[in-house]
Amino acid sequence: MKIEIATLFPEMCEAVLNESIVGRARRAGKIEVSCRQIREYTQDKHRRVDDTPYGGGMGMVMQCEPIYNCYKAVCDEWGTKPHTIYMSPKGKVLTEQRAAELSQTDAILIICGHYEGVDQRVIDKIVDEEISIGDYVLTGGELPALVLTDCIARLCPGVLSDDVCFTDESIYSGLLEYPQYTRPEVWEGEAVPPVLLSGHHKNIEAWRHDQSVALTKERRPDMYENYIK
Ligand code: SAM
Repeated sequence: MKIEIATLFPEMCEAVLNESIVGRARRAGKIEVSCRQIREYTQDKHRRVDDTPYGGGMGMVMQCEPIYNCYKAVCDEWGTKPHTIYMSPKGKVLTEQRAAELSQTDAILIICGHYEGVDQRVIDKIVDEEISIGDYVLTGGELPALVLTDCIARLCPGVLSDDVCFTDESIYSGLLEYPQYTRPEVWEGEAVPPVLLSGHHKNIEAWRHDQSVALTKERRPDMYENYIK
């Protein structure tokens, strides 16, 4: 699985991608994630990649040519057309299920917009799918691209120590996760639920399941309805 992030701020993305579980997985060769500077692909002598919107209005729009040239360079280098995703508040909201499907894809190119977004013509020409990370607007596509990459990466074989690390979690399991506790046994007068100290695995499992169901019913009635169907 290869992911390429096309962005005007590769250092911002690299800073995140070099850390923690994704950073370790990259260094261990479990996933290939890299970043590409869209500005490298402009023909403009001042390295401009944006211009004012036709029809007037606020802000700047990212131009077709640098993004298209960047896309073509990825196609040439990889010898294949990547599944191309544009991060956009107008896209379908990301779900764990979509991330799981994408984790089975060999080659993904993620395009990060900035300013007022990207000229529609290049979206129409190269983008297979637009993904949003929620109903709010950010200044750029870098944080959304990192959210998507992290979400896909942890579902790739070998990135987490065991598949149970993600199958047992909130959302993937169809329920929200039960509450977690660690040492000390008593903190600020609050004790850990006794069943977790019992060593009785069946009872612990049953308690966790009941907690999950109750929490999901309370916080996510939509998810609970699906679960009991
Ligand atoms: N003018 C655009 C609109 O109203 O739909 C918003 C542009 S936004 C300020 C700049 C860029 O940030 C977008 O091109 C997109 O790449 C990214 N972005 C912002 N919010 C996002 C979200 N919720 N999900 C995914 N990408 C987002």
